Amino acid sequence: MEIRRLKSRGCNVYLIDLEGKRILVDTGTPLSAKLIESQLRNIDAIVITHAHFDHIGSASYLQKKFGCDIFIHKDDMPFLLGEKKFKYSGILGKIAAMGEMLFRMKYPEEAKPINELPEILGTFPAEIIHTPGHTPGSICIKVEESLFCGDLFRGKSRKPGKPALSPKAFCSDYSAYLDSIRLISNLDFSYALPGHGETIPKKEIDELVGSVDVDQR
Ligand SMILES: [Zn+2]
Ligand SMILES: [Zn+2]
Repeated sequence: MEIRRLKSRGCNVYLIDLEGKRILVDTGTPLSAKLIESQLRNIDAIVITHAHFDHIGSASYLQKKFGCDIFIHKDDMPFLLGEKKFKYSGILGKIAAMGEMLFRMKYPEEAKPINELPEILGTFPAEIIHTPGHTPGSICIKVEESLFCGDLFRGKSRKPGKPALSPKAFCSDYSAYLDSIRLISNLDFSYALPGHGETIPKKEIDELVGSVDVDQR
């Protein structure tokens, strides 16, 4: 298996190459479209971790260019297709809502529910885990020792820095979010590949989740 982090804008975009099948994880903002295209020859599927604008912005363009399907959890499908809008809270939320407006989003015309991914990819050994809370249909994708975690955790972005939880303002249901991060901490993997910032070793995920449980006591 090979995992590559592509050059992108808005969020981290990964390419998984496994047994000849190539999957793109997330697509950044619309400003990423041509940049991502220039780094790819072909892809078999686009998988979206969740439908925030900074992850889905180039999906429509890349779907058309490469003639592949987009897969997303059914609970985030209406947001991906532009039929529903997320509600954000607080000042951070206002910034997010403004960002969404500033990018002239082109929503895909169609996508497939993530549970149909195995039918398309056959033996591709990816485990899809529903981790609601950041958005209703957030997912993590576990492939061997790697966990693609979307915005469930944020990798450090500067030195020195630390990985962090998703800000509450961006979460649609914070108590569901806390349940999801505990679920992930119980899984067996070596490192998480987040939507923002650097790769996070599992040990640091466990410390983060542990600190939440101390705060809640
Ligand atoms: Zn997000
Ligand atoms: Zn994000």
